[in-house]
Amino acid sequence: MVPPMERASWDHRFWIKVSKTDSCWEWIAYKCKLGYGRFWLNGGPKLAHVVSFEMHHGPLLENEEVRHTCDNRSCVNPGHLIRGSRRDNMVDMAKRGRTPTGRLTRESATMIIEAQSAGAGPTEAALAAGCKFQQAWDIFRGRTWKWLRKELEHHTMSTSCR
Ligand SMILES: [Zn+2]
Repeated sequence: MVPPMERASWDHRFWIKVSKTDSCWEWIAYKCKLGYGRFWLNGGPKLAHVVSFEMHHGPLLENEEVRHTCDNRSCVNPGHLIRGSRRDNMVDMAKRGRTPTGRLTRESATMIIEAQSAGAGPTEAALAAGCKFQQAWDIFRGRTWKWLRKELEHHTMSTSCR
């Protein structure tokens, strides 16, 4: 994270991209395909809510992620952001993302492909997407959703969320 002394130079640039309401503080600038705000900092794109979290609560430790208590991915209100492990985050997502029919949506398939490229195993990925292990495994092995993987790889440079 950036030393506090240097913050003034980009602090303003950050907050003009935020629309504060009584509850959530919406990121109104560029968002990645998963809906997280993106902010260019130190020569690279950062997750806006993580930047906000670290500004207010201090740097994340290794293997920690920032979680939204408000379920709003574009929110950067530090009061709605808490520290969690990557696994916590995936369990959260699984609780919210499970579909009653059990069919894989494009969103879940995307989540699985992204989990795999972030180094997660198929069990974790299935948990994140709220699907069956076998569905995640088929994607991992390239048996299904091949076209989507190609499409995502094509866009990775500009829109990756990690
Ligand atoms: Zn919020």
